[in-house]
Amino acid sequence: MAMSDEGGMPFLLTSLDQMTRWAQRNSLWPLTMGLACCAIEMMALVTPRFDSARFGAEVFRGSPRQADLMIVSGRVCHKMVPVIRQLFEQMAEPKWVMSMGACASSGGTFNNYAVVQGVDQILPVDVYVPGCPPTPEAVLQAIVALQERIARGGARTAGRRPAAGVVGARG
Ligand code: SF4
Repeated sequence: MAMSDEGGMPFLLTSLDQMTRWAQRNSLWPLTMGLACCAIEMMALVTPRFDSARFGAEVFRGSPRQADLMIVSGRVCHKMVPVIRQLFEQMAEPKWVMSMGACASSGGTFNNYAVVQGVDQILPVDVYVPGCPPTPEAVLQAIVALQERIARGGARTAGRRPAAGVVGARG
């Protein structure tokens, strides 16, 4: 994008692609979906103390068709896999996935037959947030990392793609 005031009248030059990415990065709509204790920290995102509205990511949606960010908050049991996959497939494109917490990213302490050992085995994860549970600040940092990726023109398909990174060194 570039701004100019030549001739006394300020105007903005950009491309449709850049404008679209600008709108997408500043209006992430998360899906309302909590799986375990991490979901409590995820809910705190929209409280006045953390105020995810500052980053345009406060509009949690009840329908996957109106959401473009899935925050997997908590351990993923095998019996939930078909449900999570269906919700992901129903989300609008482009869409992104955040793996929140040790359990979602690796199974955490639940190394047993009932728990998926990392949600990236079933979904393409864009950003990982470590911690048990991660703090809301760490989740906000992950949202910002994701927004930077979107601004750079990250993958727009549901296919497997490289992760944007791991945020929140201490969770
Ligand atoms: S990472 Fe910790 S807080 Fe999050 S779901 Fe697992 S046990 Fe619960």
